[in-house]
Amino acid sequence: MTTTPRRTAIVTGAARGIGAAVARRLAADGFAVAVLDLDESACAAVVAEIEAAGGRALAVGVDVADEGAVQTAVERIADTLGEPTVLVNNAGIIRDNLLFKMTVDDWDAVMGVHLRGSFLMARAVQGYMTHASFGRIVNLSSTSALGNRGQANYATAKAGLQGFTKTLALELGKFGVTVNAIAPGFIETEMTAATAARMGVSFEDFKAAAAAEIPVARTGRPEDIAHAVSYFVSEGAGFTSGQVIYVAGGPKA
Ligand code: NAP
Repeated sequence: MTTTPRRTAIVTGAARGIGAAVARRLAADGFAVAVLDLDESACAAVVAEIEAAGGRALAVGVDVADEGAVQTAVERIADTLGEPTVLVNNAGIIRDNLLFKMTVDDWDAVMGVHLRGSFLMARAVQGYMTHASFGRIVNLSSTSALGNRGQANYATAKAGLQGFTKTLALELGKFGVTVNAIAPGFIETEMTAATAARMGVSFEDFKAAAAAEIPVARTGRPEDIAHAVSYFVSEGAGFTSGQVIYVAGGPKA
């Protein structure tokens, strides 16, 4: 019988929302988990939860768009938890506005976190993955990749991540590294709560309106995305690569 080595996963934007659920789920699946977010102290609660459940975790404060900081953080994770062979590029921001009101800062900030951040993180971990002849990268896209009013920056970044995913799948496959993307629909997090606040509606009403359009008749929860990540990073998913799965409660975004 072969035993699977204990592997180290990095989840970005893991202090809350989808990232926190992914970090908890991967820890429950047996991974040592680097809980990475902008503010290291904000990661403490998720780390404590994982440790209380018997897992191993490390809080790491880093801006994924900062090249030097990413390199240093990944080396620290490798030294502390072991070679990172799973990466979930989840960190994200929104800076919504109609095109005529969108500033260059709104555009650059969104590209910086989603695209530059995912690129820097993937580049920093790929050497560990190719060395281990095993790797799993999951990028968080969005149904907004198909177009969403007020999100020219975000939709572009999320569509870009799909091209990034497919290209890395082509480049890294022969090293045992798979690269896939998850495109969530409406998930209940602070991000969607902030959108409701910006539109001047209560989160409850916002969720109810969204659920009315979703075939499974509810909005998504962070755990719904964590479940999909769990599959993509599993040992048995080695023949699934370059895919984009819409986890949106139905066939249409
Ligand atoms: P969230 O609740 O806003 O959490 C995002 C996390 O990312 C926050 O903890 C945030 O830290 C962190 N972050 C932001 N910029 C960062 C940076 N430069 N470096 C490191 N960490 C950074 O968002 P969420 O709803 O869980 O979304 C997670 C991912 O799923 C995002 O990529 C999002 O675009 C995608 N997504 C979400 C939905 C949805 O309906 N919620 C749908 C489709 C796709 P701070 O708190 O310090 O800013």
